[in-house]
Amino acid sequence: MRIVLWDVDGTLLYNSAKAGTYYHDAIRQVAGVGPSPDEPHAVEHGKTDAQIVTERLDRWGGDRAHLAAVSQRLDELSDAYLTDAARRTAAPGVDAALHAVAEAGWVNGLLTGNSPHRARVKLAGAGVDVAAFDWDRSYFGDRAVVRSDLTAAARADLAGATAVILGDTPADGAAADAVGFPFIAVATGAYEQQALRETSAALVMAPGGGPAGAAGRARAALSRTSRRTRQTPSSARR
Ligand SMILES: [Mg+2]
Repeated sequence: MRIVLWDVDGTLLYNSAKAGTYYHDAIRQVAGVGPSPDEPHAVEHGKTDAQIVTERLDRWGGDRAHLAAVSQRLDELSDAYLTDAARRTAAPGVDAALHAVAEAGWVNGLLTGNSPHRARVKLAGAGVDVAAFDWDRSYFGDRAVVRSDLTAAARADLAGATAVILGDTPADGAAADAVGFPFIAVATGAYEQQALRETSAALVMAPGGGPAGAAGRARAALSRTSRRTRQTPSSARR
């Protein structure tokens, strides 16, 4: 089997400046703690939800034991992603790229810091076809504090398969590197192409170009990655 493991935020969907308030609200409602008024904005791109929540609990004097309840509350608050006020926006050409991946004989999976529910409502709210993904071969970070735990779970689960990580941050690349998966970077998120070229990325894809451009880039990326994986099988199986 060959599978593309897509990141969600900043990759399939554009980032949202408002997203951080859900974490604040869920933590405050469950754990009763929050930031001081002058706390600087934290840079959290590429972190799992469990990592974001536990780091905030630690910073604000909350108990990490609240993680599961905070995650549950986040799921409830995230239903708002299905409403007009909070809908996310898909990156251009996402559906075409998902189809191109499937037509090339690859499975579309997810490897994301979101919970399954949050990934589903964000994608559905943005109009992305959630049936395009194999949800049983997808990996979620609502309880994993370290992103490489997700790639480790994927590697164990997908033994013998060729898997590619497709994401928008150096953290996606580091998690791919940790288990020897090839990494394809897209500059649709918080990082510019130049910064992504400094990662292990086999390929850095520019944003834009619309559906045809995205589909063509996805096909080209997979064929290049296939060649690279065949040439260095040990890196994918390490
Ligand atoms: Mg991302």
